[in-house]
Amino acid sequence: MAGIYVHIPLCAAKCAYCDFYSVPRGRISPDALVDALTNEFSLRRHELGDESVSTIYIGGGTPSSLSSGLLTALMDRFREYSPDECTVEVNPEDITAGYVTSLVNAGINRVSMGVQSLVDSELSFIGRRHSARDAIDAVRIIKDNGIDNLSLDLIYGLPGQTVDTWRRSLDTLLGLYPQHISAYLLSYEPGTRLTAMLNAGKITETPDETIEIMYNTLCRMTSDAGFDHYEISNFSQPGRHSRHNSSYWDGTAYLGLGPGAHSFTLGTRRHNPSDIRQYIKLRGSGITVEEPENDSERFNDFIITSLRTADGLNLAKAAEFGRTDKVIEAARPHLRSGKMLLSGGRLRIAETSWLVADSIMRDFIEV
Ligand code: SF4
Repeated sequence: MAGIYVHIPLCAAKCAYCDFYSVPRGRISPDALVDALTNEFSLRRHELGDESVSTIYIGGGTPSSLSSGLLTALMDRFREYSPDECTVEVNPEDITAGYVTSLVNAGINRVSMGVQSLVDSELSFIGRRHSARDAIDAVRIIKDNGIDNLSLDLIYGLPGQTVDTWRRSLDTLLGLYPQHISAYLLSYEPGTRLTAMLNAGKITETPDETIEIMYNTLCRMTSDAGFDHYEISNFSQPGRHSRHNSSYWDGTAYLGLGPGAHSFTLGTRRHNPSDIRQYIKLRGSGITVEEPENDSERFNDFIITSLRTADGLNLAKAAEFGRTDKVIEAARPHLRSGKMLLSGGRLRIAETSWLVADSIMRDFIEV
């Protein structure tokens, strides 16, 4: 089994917190981008060998920057496969009934929509181009037009956000009955507008105690609504976890197409440079860079991906790396403090400690 990821690095405007690679959508020909993507696929499909493709994920950026005709042309290129899950990321302001119908006709069966907050003052502060009402209306349109697998994204720890407004966003979002929720803790990344404001003293970081209350509220409200917290930032109704993202965490091969896309094919990690103009000029040809990994780097990947999930780290797999003793030794203080749990041959970070997962994982990483 394998996956295909397609990166569409076009956005209408840059959100204040975002450091993903994207360029303003008016400045690039979307036709030329799709032409380059389909050409790259033709040149690199052999990297998947005769593996069957079980998931396709079109992410960004904002894939809904593409017309429905271009998205259909892109999906047509993958017609030889019969994936179980085909996801496209969208923003609320691009959603119309006709657009969603075209997505469904093109073979899309899952939509992931960036909502981020359902409080208008927070949305405008972070530069989103939609209101809470727009997001709610878009959910209704998506559901009414044939998509029954919908994921919604939220962010907590935003400047000005309070426990009350966070609870309000969550409450409204849960009332929309999505099948999946991704909830990310805001991180101040270099180069973003929010980081510049933070450095200039115009905003302050949300205190750790408030973040902890927000995280606990998130865990409790999603659990009460029947969601399974299956990865640090991801929650799903039973059977509705993101199969595509899960394959990143369990070592499945995936072919990443587009500027800035990452791949794991033929046992090797690869990436495409984040340069859309060069990508279009070369029609996606000869740009992919291999990232050879040594044994320690492969082990570190295994630690980081597996300890992010509720399934946790498989000790039998650690044995394949010859590192069982080392893993048990690193886990010992965390098992004693209750931050980690060991059962069924698997080592897990307790849900109550996922907020500090990075500091726990550091004890396992080889430098
Ligand atoms: S958050 Fe999404 S829409 Fe906003 S700039 Fe980043 S990729 Fe584009």
